[in-house]
Amino acid sequence: MPAETVTRTQKAQQPLSKILAAEFKTIVAMTRIYCRDHHPAMEKSAGVCSDCQSFLDFARFRLVKCPYGDIKPTCKQCPVHCYKPDRKEQARIIMRYAGPRMLLPHPILAIRHLLHDRRPVPELPKRGRKAREAKNKND
Ligand code: SF4
Ligand SMILES: [Zn+2]
Repeated sequence: MPAETVTRTQKAQQPLSKILAAEFKTIVAMTRIYCRDHHPAMEKSAGVCSDCQSFLDFARFRLVKCPYGDIKPTCKQCPVHCYKPDRKEQARIIMRYAGPRMLLPHPILAIRHLLHDRRPVPELPKRGRKAREAKNKND
């Protein structure tokens, strides 16, 4: 396993606040639905195949690093969008498929996510703005 992957996986395990943990729970539930229906033949651990687990590690890592912290908008509405293009597309495909299938098995998570998606996007906190400016300077 490359050293970079180990680092990301380890960082992805850092504790999340209650709010971010609830968001991650929704992402896990959606990814499980997607994986169940699209990767039925693949070996699974905790309800997902290794590809989907890699997506979940990435998504959790981005949550740990999210410059908005607890006030984050849904990633779909986010003007920063910290996902790499291929991960962004993977997230879009998973959410589009699993979103409408969430209501029956996970009504509370589904409604919470719908309400979250309608909330206005907050201003980026100062710390996040500075980090973003520094990153843009170095790009
Ligand atoms: S896409 Fe936006 S809201 Fe989602 S984790 Fe990245 S910075 Fe935070
Ligand atoms: Zn899968």
